Amino acid sequence: MKLFETHAHLDLPDFDSDRESLINKCFASGIEYIINVSYNKETALSSLELAKKHLHIFATVGFHPHDAVDFDAELVKKHAREKKVLAIGEIGLDFFRNLSPYPVQREVFANQAHLAVEYDLPVVVHDRQAHQECYNILRQENVKEAVFHCFSGDIVFAQQVLDAGWMISFTGSITYANSHLDNVVRLVPMDRFMIETDCPYLPPHPHRGQRNSPLLLHLVAEKIAEIKGITPKEVAEASYNNAMQFFRVPPDPVKHHKAGHKK
Ligand SMILES: [Zn+2]
Repeated sequence: MKLFETHAHLDLPDFDSDRESLINKCFASGIEYIINVSYNKETALSSLELAKKHLHIFATVGFHPHDAVDFDAELVKKHAREKKVLAIGEIGLDFFRNLSPYPVQREVFANQAHLAVEYDLPVVVHDRQAHQECYNILRQENVKEAVFHCFSGDIVFAQQVLDAGWMISFTGSITYANSHLDNVVRLVPMDRFMIETDCPYLPPHPHRGQRNSPLLLHLVAEKIAEIKGITPKEVAEASYNNAMQFFRVPPDPVKHHKAGHKK
């Protein structure tokens, strides 16, 4: 089964002991592309470094709401011009943990959404208990291409996101017994969702408590297939095609891989 892992954090220390062998295993097991998402200055660097090492790994740049106080616009602009950086993210609002003050989160999210439009890059959104506020900022900044990563809203909010033209992304959280996302999975059309692990976090059932990795991505596809009443292969293919289009993955990664700037 051909898979596209749209949200991983393989540069984190959790993978220090076996990173390269794990990545090889992933590519041998049907994972074709990986978006390695960053969330602060340190991971912007490590994520880009990893992407430059692997033909089929791409990076993002952005300051997560937890790291909003460290926001560095020049770093985001610099990385946004890198060929291997395909999105701005993960950026957004987190009113669950509130590690950065609310006004700072809001301002930094808006600034980065603005940069995404300016640099013509899609946005990977982190939205934790801040659905409407995230929606409002993206609309206000006129963001056309966004994915709500690890979607956690209800069916009404899902419809709002779809109506705005944005994508919905599912993690292993849909496999948990307390998941309320079945109706969202049923609602979302085949051309509007993606799948991700968010590894090392959120391991799908029955691997909770273990380190997550792209090797478990198929379990997300299988759960969506079960809910939608289709095959895992159909889910994987749809998500793959949606991700290729959303992240505008270059058709010739070999040529594209050369380190450097877009223009
Ligand atoms: Zn993440």
